[in-house]
Amino acid sequence: MKKVFVKSYGCQMNVYDAERMADMLATEGYSETKAMEEADLVILNTCHIREKAAEKVYSELGRVRELKKEREAAGQETRIVVAGCVAQAEGKEILRRAPAVDVVVGPQNYHNLPALLQKARAERVVDTEFPVEDKFDHLPKPSKTAIRNRGVSAFLTIQEGCDKFCTFCVVPYTRGAEVSRPVAKILDEAMRLADAGVRELTLIGQNVNAYHGEGPDGSVWSLGRLLHRLAEVPGIARLRYTTSHPRDMDDELIAAHRDLPALMPYLHLPVQSGSDRILDAMNRKHTGDEYRRLIERIRKAQPDLALSSDFIVGFPGETDEDFEDTMRLIADVGFASSFSFKYSPRPGTPAAEIEAQVSEAVKAERLARLQNLLEMQRQAFNRGTVGRTLDVLLEKPGRHPGQMAGKSPYLQAVQIESDRHAIGEIVTVRITQAGSNSLFGEVAGSGSQAAA
Ligand code: SAM
Ligand code: SF4
Repeated sequence: MKKVFVKSYGCQMNVYDAERMADMLATEGYSETKAMEEADLVILNTCHIREKAAEKVYSELGRVRELKKEREAAGQETRIVVAGCVAQAEGKEILRRAPAVDVVVGPQNYHNLPALLQKARAERVVDTEFPVEDKFDHLPKPSKTAIRNRGVSAFLTIQEGCDKFCTFCVVPYTRGAEVSRPVAKILDEAMRLADAGVRELTLIGQNVNAYHGEGPDGSVWSLGRLLHRLAEVPGIARLRYTTSHPRDMDDELIAAHRDLPALMPYLHLPVQSGSDRILDAMNRKHTGDEYRRLIERIRKAQPDLALSSDFIVGFPGETDEDFEDTMRLIADVGFASSFSFKYSPRPGTPAAEIEAQVSEAVKAERLARLQNLLEMQRQAFNRGTVGRTLDVLLEKPGRHPGQMAGKSPYLQAVQIESDRHAIGEIVTVRITQAGSNSLFGEVAGSGSQAAA
């Protein structure tokens, strides 16, 4: 049997796509390996969101080329594929810069991989056209064993692409226009996952709460309605979704946070900046106060909510005052977790053309201050759960023998002193301690969501 090694960079969409590529190649006789040295086929599933992420690909390709040479000397062939958003954005340029690459394939075309690999026997190929057909219709269904090996928590793509065109972002160019998958196909995939033991589904999309898929009756379903339907799938105990845009948090979705016990009290809702001037220049289409009011409405529906966000510091033209507005927004809202980045100019995006770029030193200083505040908030949130009993979905063995690891409803990693429980079980845990990255606790009983 031939072996394929897939390395994924970037967001959850890439994790999902990497799994689909492995499923596709399983039908061609490839089994997955975690060791690149033994792979007959190496796939780098790349990310273009920031310059650093994109450059990583070229340094990794240098290493893969050396490996290809070594294996060649031992009489073994290695073929190399570059997939994902760098493939989409740079296409042929990759073949020029990295002569060892056999195939370059965009995120909408990886269902063509078997044919592309065949074609590449004659000449190196690039496939980055946005196809008319839906790749999902061409993807094989994963086996029960493949699903089980991936764990009890699974991603499910319900929406792809983005029409928002934030001025800093490459996604609308690399992933294309917004498309929602029909409800029936999502349900079918959810049932297959649940049937193989998945307990938690995270619905994913670049702009997931813009979901507007076709329902079984031909009407358009919103994300709120879809969540209600998915909560009825036997075996599915927990639902999450990511990543959302503040403009698309409609009443139905907010009400789902109040009415749907399976919808976990966690929301990743990126705000990017707290300055109205910068938010406008970013084309985010909301102000800082509109975000604050939105959070108030969501917290009214679900007061017990862990809130998370993305932040960009050093967007072109960002002054000290703008940055202080962001710090104020963070202090006002309070976040349980977050991701923050220095602005990275991306070729082809409007913000990269703005002359007033912020210096690296200023970006670094602002990022350090911002991350310091966010880290204090994260730790305070974690400490606030000490002494509480939380339902924990057990996902894997723990760090040390006799321990198991899982996730709280707020997506915190939790370690418990027990190996008596099954992976996939939801247990009630009394949290005894908050470490820097995990909570620790004692099992106090079966979780309230245990019966599936
Ligand atoms: N669709 C989501 C949204 O609207 O928030 C997330 C898209 S992106 C994959 C994830 C995060 O990367 C963004 O929220 C943003 O904070 C960050 N990001 C995107 N472009 C960036 C850039 N040019 N420089 C720095 N960070 C960037
Ligand atoms: Fe990028 Fe998100 Fe803005 Fe779309 S909404 S352009 S994915 S940051």
